Amino acid sequence: MQIVNDNGCSWINDLDSRSNIKVLKKNDECEWLIIGAGYTGLSAARKLAKLHPSQRIILIDAQLAGEGASSRNSGFLVDSTLNDGFTSNKDLENYKKKTNIYELGIKVIKKFINEHQVDCDWNDSGKFFASSKIEDEKILKKFSKILSELKFKHDILYNKELTKKLGTSFYNVGLYTRGGVLLHPAKLARAMINALPNNVELFENSFLLNWFKIKDHLICNFNFAQIKTKKIIFATNGFLKSLGIKKNYNFPITLTASMTRPLTNEEFKFIGEPNEWGVLPVRPMGATVRMTKNRRILIRNTAEIHNPFKMTKQNLEKRLISHKAGIIKRFPNLPHNIVQSTWSGIVSRSRNSSQIFEKIDNNIFAAGCYNGSGIGVGTLFGEQIALKASNESTNEIQIIENKNKLSLLPPQPFLNLGIKARLVYERFRSKSDI
Ligand SMILES: Cc1cc2nc3c(=O)[nH]c(=O)nc-3n(C[C@H](O)[C@H](O)[C@H](O)COP(=O)(O)OP(=O)(O)OC[C@H]3O[C@@H](n4cnc5c(N)ncnc54)[C@H](O)[C@@H]3O)c2cc1C
Repeated sequence: MQIVNDNGCSWINDLDSRSNIKVLKKNDECEWLIIGAGYTGLSAARKLAKLHPSQRIILIDAQLAGEGASSRNSGFLVDSTLNDGFTSNKDLENYKKKTNIYELGIKVIKKFINEHQVDCDWNDSGKFFASSKIEDEKILKKFSKILSELKFKHDILYNKELTKKLGTSFYNVGLYTRGGVLLHPAKLARAMINALPNNVELFENSFLLNWFKIKDHLICNFNFAQIKTKKIIFATNGFLKSLGIKKNYNFPITLTASMTRPLTNEEFKFIGEPNEWGVLPVRPMGATVRMTKNRRILIRNTAEIHNPFKMTKQNLEKRLISHKAGIIKRFPNLPHNIVQSTWSGIVSRSRNSSQIFEKIDNNIFAAGCYNGSGIGVGTLFGEQIALKASNESTNEIQIIENKNKLSLLPPQPFLNLGIKARLVYERFRSKSDI
């Protein structure tokens, strides 16, 4: 078994390739084993290394570290969300619990980039939720009420102002929140790899096939060798279910995105030279779109149940048609052949958009299921699960554990049928904004 990723992600291709990749080839033993080296696993490893400087910590990934969803996302470090999961944000108290976690997520990333002097194209530009349908003003006004009660600075904007700010007249109504941050996700993930302390040993391209408990130890079988560990942290997000972790509470969803080449001076001038921006959809299946720091347009407009281990080139090419159509709709006067790369990535979802942060069993811990908002939350949960596993208590753990309990999923085949039907329905409702 293997995770086969495309190598077409512009974010990853912006970086130099790494050397010194170590594959697990002989049996090993450690005090701490972390499975998955995305934001969550890297942050757990960083924290554990500080807490236990003389203990052996192994961090291991099935592909290159950080090159799963952590380098393939859209780079919105969110302060608030409108459509996380399949429920609407009905209840103010629940919504507050969520935004408390987002706030901690932003803080922890800020602290990391300050401490390690990280350049990840950080931009405090805020973010927009926008729609081409003026009817969606109703949804945004409701959302605005919630935000006002929680004292989030925001504004409702209409076509004229949006056109000026975004360089496209596609959107008719939008809500701008000042607290969101835009960043380069792969630069952030790479910085976390570079910041790994010396007492963390990183193995890559090493796939965990299965694991089991013998007395007070855990045995983990990888494709070429075995690790015996005292404690384990599962940080595999979209692959938690395939490893049997909280499998009745989370499921993987495959997303795809494309990015254009940088716009030329002439093209950029033509659309009004907007500042860097990011737009999230008002309806769940609408497109996420960004104008990046170096004038590239990113679009993500598919979300589906698909084999999380592999998306073929042909499959990606089909998704590219939808990405291109989304860009042309928004920028009809730009050349139609400017997409430079297309890629897929896996996220984990739950029924009620709550996350996983827990001790699964003695010496077994898991963090994940961020419902598409894992940059800040993943980094936070990674650090805090390391503290929890070390029997430390923190205010952050209290805030995280105050989140809503995860809802149980229906059994198969009803689960997949239900999700597919929901995705088709939401895609139909968002048709104009894909
Ligand atoms: C297209 C896209 C857009 C997104 N946009 C945003 C956004 O704008 N803002 C935001 O906050 N979030 C966004 N997300 C979600 C965000 O990327 C994730 O929530 C975040 O990366 C989760 O980090 P993680 O470390 O938990 O998981 P991952 O980065 O997925 O890392 C998990 C790692 O586990 C490894 N693994 C899995 N199975 C095994 C195994 N059996 N053995 C060994 N290793 C294994 C994988 O190889 C992977 O590297 C987006 C995701 C995608 C795909």
